[in-house]
Amino acid sequence: MSNSEACDLLLKSGSVVTVDEDRRVIEPGSVAVRGNRIVAVGPDDELNHYEPVRTIDCSGRAVIPGLIDTHNHLFQGLARGLGEGMPLWTWLTDFMWPFSTNITPDEARIGALLGAVEAARAGTTAVVDNHYAPTDLDTTLAVAGAIETVGLRGAVARGIMGEATEVARRFNLAGALFQYSNDEEIEITDAAIDAYPPGGLVGVWPAPVNVIYNDQDLVRRSVELARKRGTGWHTHCSERKEDPPTYVDEYGIRPVEWLYREGLLGPEATLAHGIYLDDDEIAHVGETETGIAYCPISHEYIGLGVMRLRDLRASNAPVGLGTDGPCCNHRQDMFECMKQAILLQRVHSLEPTVSNGEEAMELATLEGARYLGVDVGSLEPGKLADIVVVDLEQPHLTPRHRTVAALAYSARGSDVIYNIVDGRIIYENGHCTLVDERAIMEEAQRRSEELIARAGLEPLLQPWRTDLI
Ligand SMILES: [Zn+2]
Repeated sequence: MSNSEACDLLLKSGSVVTVDEDRRVIEPGSVAVRGNRIVAVGPDDELNHYEPVRTIDCSGRAVIPGLIDTHNHLFQGLARGLGEGMPLWTWLTDFMWPFSTNITPDEARIGALLGAVEAARAGTTAVVDNHYAPTDLDTTLAVAGAIETVGLRGAVARGIMGEATEVARRFNLAGALFQYSNDEEIEITDAAIDAYPPGGLVGVWPAPVNVIYNDQDLVRRSVELARKRGTGWHTHCSERKEDPPTYVDEYGIRPVEWLYREGLLGPEATLAHGIYLDDDEIAHVGETETGIAYCPISHEYIGLGVMRLRDLRASNAPVGLGTDGPCCNHRQDMFECMKQAILLQRVHSLEPTVSNGEEAMELATLEGARYLGVDVGSLEPGKLADIVVVDLEQPHLTPRHRTVAALAYSARGSDVIYNIVDGRIIYENGHCTLVDERAIMEEAQRRSEELIARAGLEPLLQPWRTDLI
């Protein structure tokens, strides 16, 4: 054929959910990839002239943009299943802080590897990993390396505690996690960015762990560093109902109001949760296009509250979805997150029209990409080739009438059969292609047992707890 065009990969005859500007769903459709970019998307007959190195038959399968997990703590994988039924501060002081202050660099690395494998298998192509223990330079780089080794895209948002504040002391948080001076925190983060500079598959971002108990000047310096180095920055913000009043008590101003007045909000800012924002704060994040990570399952699990999804979306803030780590979700399944993102809004508003499958898909893909600041999130020529193929020939996905509804409500991470990041297949035939999953699981089990013993968390291991209700 005279007009034939070469490409590396052709995904053919699938139900292609593009999430492009026209929100086209092309059935049957094809996606052509050359190098790390998508070169064509359309009905099968329009892409007939492509001569691919490899063709994947996608009949009976959905082809969707890669799912973006906007807030995670991969290292928590080693404590999955523990810490059940505790209020947030007790969960932090009696479980998460002992866990976090005892975890070694090797344990954090294997936890991150395990989490990255789990995410890749479930169709996550990019992850913002808020890594806060341990945060020495070597461990930070090892965690970035773990994500890179599995083949995911993403950012290690390096948790910054700095010098303990009055608020941290009041809530018994001050302790071993506040181990570095403010200067050291900035220096280590800067050095980590040197090793993983912007533009690569995995980057490093400054991440003051929580605006509520981080030092204000340290938050300022973290944002300055992000701007100087051209990275994003990340923090937990207003996840508990008490957070804004606590901040007002201490500083005389609401936290997001303060960030806005200081000029710290902007497209490079990403706030996890943002549940308790008032009308002015929502207007500020919208005006500045500050990203918000909506983590419905952790909001439900810890009983935090319901994010103002409709108001935030109306404000133009990029709202992505996050799993929020294996300790308050227990699974890294963005399909489950999509479903819960919708259902939580409905049960709160008592209104079934408040959100839908189409919106959940947008949050998990296009909006996540805005939040991340990377050219992914839809299947369009020119975009980076982060693509997921989902097996639809399953009893729980039959009969098929609306592919988007099937994906948002019926599909689960284990239905993913291909995960492609940056044009490279990182998961197929039931296995991650770049790492030895079995060896990772075995090491994770062994190291987790050692860590639980060292951290004194055995009381959390009773097979059947009677002290919960
Ligand atoms: Zn979190």
